[in-house]
Amino acid sequence: MTMRVRFAPSPTGYLHIGGARTALYNYLLAKATGGQYVLRVEDTDEERSKREYEDALIEELAWLGIEHDIGPGKEDDLGPYRQSERLDIYMDYTNQLIERGLAFYDFCTEEELDQMREKAEAEGTAPYTGKWRDAEHFEEAKARVAAGEKTAVRFKVDPTKAYTFKDLVRGEVKFPAGMVGDFVIMRANGKPTYNFCNVIDDYLHKMTHVLRGEEHLNNTVRQLMIYEAFDWKAPEFAHLSIMVGSDRQKLSKRHGATSVKLYKEEGYLPQALTNYLCLLGWSHPEEKSIFTNEELFSVFNEKRFNKSPAMYDIEKLKWTNAQHLKQLSDEALLSHANEFLADTELFASQSDEWKLNCLKLFVEKINLITDLKQMLPEFLTQTEFAKNEEIEAWETTPQIASYLKEQIASVYSVSAEQFGEWMNYCKKELKIKGKPLFMGFRYCLTGQDHGPDLKLLIPLIDKSVLTKRLERF
Ligand code: GLU
Repeated sequence: MTMRVRFAPSPTGYLHIGGARTALYNYLLAKATGGQYVLRVEDTDEERSKREYEDALIEELAWLGIEHDIGPGKEDDLGPYRQSERLDIYMDYTNQLIERGLAFYDFCTEEELDQMREKAEAEGTAPYTGKWRDAEHFEEAKARVAAGEKTAVRFKVDPTKAYTFKDLVRGEVKFPAGMVGDFVIMRANGKPTYNFCNVIDDYLHKMTHVLRGEEHLNNTVRQLMIYEAFDWKAPEFAHLSIMVGSDRQKLSKRHGATSVKLYKEEGYLPQALTNYLCLLGWSHPEEKSIFTNEELFSVFNEKRFNKSPAMYDIEKLKWTNAQHLKQLSDEALLSHANEFLADTELFASQSDEWKLNCLKLFVEKINLITDLKQMLPEFLTQTEFAKNEEIEAWETTPQIASYLKEQIASVYSVSAEQFGEWMNYCKKELKIKGKPLFMGFRYCLTGQDHGPDLKLLIPLIDKSVLTKRLERF
């Protein structure tokens, strides 16, 4: 089935990783079915919505490779796709409901509404019991509106009716009768509420499926009522599992960065982020854990959604990033590193050849390209180290050091071949073998007892640094 799906963010802040996952799933479903992925901007909250956030959302989505087929800037004849440009439409549909007696002007004061709420909580009465829901007050209400009074419009809920729908993630979901009271669909200031304009748009924008976060599940009952009032077929719904931190609490800043922008700034690869997010609530049919968006076009579908909470694990994300780093072409790796290590002089000042040798060596050891900011000085320039008593106690260690001092003094720089010859010499002529040989070389030249392949590492280190390191002996 060809799907027409949408991501419908409110531009009130930067793109959250939960939002990015929703966008990704919608995008992948559209791609997998040859359908259309729409971006709809839900910006009716005038105070909190900002165009700069909308621009940032679109930019961050594009960085993730999620570009909309249709939406702001790419309209089709069902647009516009910014809710602030559709206010007349919502007003028109509100008036239709009022005329049909399915919605009503409500003149209750805040005080009266508070009293109703308290009573409803204490006595279990309906949440809204104002007189304005009764048809007998309709003419009076209309006259007040005609005289210029501004007031909210409420949807008239049938308190005896239960609702059920089949969710693609959760299966059958039931809402018992009386769960919600008459709810506001249009505010006194002429701005529609989320539940109302969301339905009008999903219908007019011809959405076949609505995929969104689990936090919207309870809104669905109100939305079903609106579909029913207009006699419209509701789209299929899929409420994606909630994301939680390692403490099983709803994901928040406490668990690490939550905005896509921060991950981008920290040096994560977009393909690693989408790869990781994709597995938070969906599983690959072949249980693969590393893939690109494009590879998913042929396998992604709505049948493998998981309804249990998705545990957000930053370590797993880092591991995923490491796998994608290793898959980068030389060219891509170099340009990624140039972007993030521009202020790491030690790297930035080198030739492309040096940089690539360095990157190919260290890429096995890092999760993020920015890990090199700390790792490179450690291996390439640092000259003071904590003593390793064990290695220093071997009698072969000073032997290696003094041999290397001599050799290094006689060369301009060290090549991998040269390094190999020195090691051979120590093995054959000085009869140093095994751990004392390998660890001895490493410790003398790098001050560490671990690290990347020494033969490839040493040529990256400046002769003056190697000399200084050997002076400790
Ligand atoms: N604007 C809503 C949000 O950002 C959209 C929810 C929906 O997809 O229906 O949460």
